[in-house]
Amino acid sequence: MAVPKRKVSKARRDKRRSSVWKLELPGMTKCPKCGEYVLSHRVCKNCGSYGGKVVLQVKEKED
Ligand SMILES: [Zn+2]
Repeated sequence: MAVPKRKVSKARRDKRRSSVWKLELPGMTKCPKCGEYVLSHRVCKNCGSYGGKVVLQVKEKED
């Protein structure tokens, strides 16, 4: 419910906000193929797979 800004004390406002911060990055999941952390709904940069299929050919770095 909407409450006028000045009606909410700093303590009350900050207490409310303290419980909503996120520890993890948004939308991060593990790639089912290589186990690398990837953004969901994005092609995995490590192995080039999306939805269990390889859609990109990833160039392997040679040292
Ligand atoms: Zn992957």
